Amino acid sequence: MSAPNKDYDPVEVSSLDSEAVESATTAALAAFVAANDLDELKLARIAHTGDRSPLALANREIGALPPAAKAQAGQRVGKARGLVKQALAAREADLEQERDARVLREERVDVTLAAGQTRVGARHPLTTISERLSDVFVAMGYEVAEGPEIEAEWFNFDALNIAADHPARTMQDTFFVEPAEAGVVLRTHTSPVQIRALLSRELPVYVVCPGRVFRTDELDATHTPVFHQIEGLAVDEGITMADLKGTLDHLAASVFGEGLVTRLRPSYFPFTEPSAELDLQCFACRGESVTNPDRPCRTCGSEGWIEWGGCGMVNPRVLEACGVDSEKYSGFAFGMGLERTLMFRHDITDMRDMVEGDIRFTRAFGLEG
Ligand SMILES: [Zn+2]
Repeated sequence: MSAPNKDYDPVEVSSLDSEAVESATTAALAAFVAANDLDELKLARIAHTGDRSPLALANREIGALPPAAKAQAGQRVGKARGLVKQALAAREADLEQERDARVLREERVDVTLAAGQTRVGARHPLTTISERLSDVFVAMGYEVAEGPEIEAEWFNFDALNIAADHPARTMQDTFFVEPAEAGVVLRTHTSPVQIRALLSRELPVYVVCPGRVFRTDELDATHTPVFHQIEGLAVDEGITMADLKGTLDHLAASVFGEGLVTRLRPSYFPFTEPSAELDLQCFACRGESVTNPDRPCRTCGSEGWIEWGGCGMVNPRVLEACGVDSEKYSGFAFGMGLERTLMFRHDITDMRDMVEGDIRFTRAFGLEG
């Protein structure tokens, strides 16, 4: 940049002659037109209107001119700068409009497209059926009772009238917690919860005990080392087997369908006397398949009944072990496997499907809460 100089000769200041100003103007206008987007236009703006652009430099030169030349040069440069400024604004407006149109086009939302699916989690069907069975009893005034899964042998066997040398004790293949002489096992059934309920609660006792139990079975289509049971216990004055039968029929009807009943077959369990196997009337054919050979039933194998669990009147020895006066009080107990219940309820043929955690299995049950 030239410094102010009295003897300054405008001819030497090439940036101020009309050709140079015109050329700078033309270059600026061409650069604005050539800019394809706002980013490119920004670069062109800096190059042609910035502090170091030819026209800005020319503008600064004016101050150094002799007064006579100032007006003319000022007019020339001012006009050029005005022109460039106008062209820049016009191009900027065009490019902004283009950008807005492009954004509208590229970022439009097609509301007719299927929405992305976010899957919602659901509880395992075993949990659901456990709660459904429990709810039937809660509605009758029972309480839900729970106990530890690692249990003392006394609760798991002795208190239930299963003596150390009793065959039932070997029939149930038990996981013992080391050291074995400590007498601690993974509970083989939910019955120890009944003992704990009788020992800790005031009579009468009405409890339902859902829970996880353990036996040393290999996992296959019909066995799993970890499975679930639900048991019920009622101990009160004057309880009879008729109360047991009525309760079980109510459970069957509540869960499997109005009018369905249960059937008891004589059996033996150490902790009940008398004891019975518990069968559920087939909810699929309601026994029709037994008399009609044309309509076989897969659910019950055309037997009309489905084996469901075990039950009986609480053995007085169990009551005595818990300090209950068996002359005054009597009770009934029943229990069933939840996996088995779920299997025949939903026509599941392989128990492994329930424990392997494949989401496709659980999804078939929907979002039942
Ligand atoms: Zn059937």
